[in-house]
Amino acid sequence: MIHLKNVSKTYKNGVHALRNIDLQIEDGEFVYVIGPTGSGKSTLIKLLDGEEVPNEGQVIVNDINVGKLRHSRVPVYRRNIGVVFQDFRLLPKMTVFENIAFALEILAMGKIEIRRRVREVLDLVDLRDKAKAFPSELSGGQQQRATIGRAIANHPKVLIADEPTGNLDPEKSKEIVELLEKINEVENTTIVMVTHDSDLVNTYKKRTIALEEGCIVSDLMEGGYLKHD
Ligand code: ADP
Ligand code: ADP
Repeated sequence: MIHLKNVSKTYKNGVHALRNIDLQIEDGEFVYVIGPTGSGKSTLIKLLDGEEVPNEGQVIVNDINVGKLRHSRVPVYRRNIGVVFQDFRLLPKMTVFENIAFALEILAMGKIEIRRRVREVLDLVDLRDKAKAFPSELSGGQQQRATIGRAIANHPKVLIADEPTGNLDPEKSKEIVELLEKINEVENTTIVMVTHDSDLVNTYKKRTIALEEGCIVSDLMEGGYLKHD
């Protein structure tokens, strides 16, 4: 479960990126976070993955008080959450298989177990036939599917996706949301997806948390969204 209790984040330059955020996301939910540029979406993600700490309030993820983690514990914490970005970030000199396996090797998992899980993940993201391809040989949609595969390889309870469709055309964007829906169902992963694509949010209706100027201005089941940036 994700629980933000009265969270505020002010950067050193005085910008109030988030103000008094109270938010609860249950295990297994699929939630959109939407809002215009500068509304605090990335800051929210950074608080969840331990990159930033709140000035006030508490950020609790799976019973861990993320804002209070010692620096040395942050990498260990991050192994239990998957993060996906707009710009894929695959390792260019490794194949798709190796990129996904690498995420498991650092966990000291056995070789046979790693191969089994990588194959399972490749099936889930529908990239079995691209296992030996390098990222540069894949389309954008395929690269993002590989990135998602890498992020979920370790069975994280939470997958955070920051504008995962930002570099993709509408057709490929739909594929990505459908893949995230599948992961949500098959692996029971909690999904927090930041987007400003109102078409997607209105097509695949889910709980939608809208931010404006650092505040939650709406939080609706099957939300939908009207505004564009
Ligand atoms: P969004 O992801 O919705 O575009 P951000 O969380 O990136 O919003 O930004 C919220 C506000 O905080 C903006 O005014 C932005 O300029 C500011 N901001 C973001 N990161 C920093 C930072 N590292 N230092 C100072 N100000 C920042
Ligand atoms: P997808 O629907 O998976 O995003 P596309 O329809 O864009 O794939 O691409 C079809 C095929 O063309 C893919 O199998 C991919 O390997 C190849 N391809 C697409 N874009 C590129 C690229 N920039 N470089 C190399 N191969 C590409």
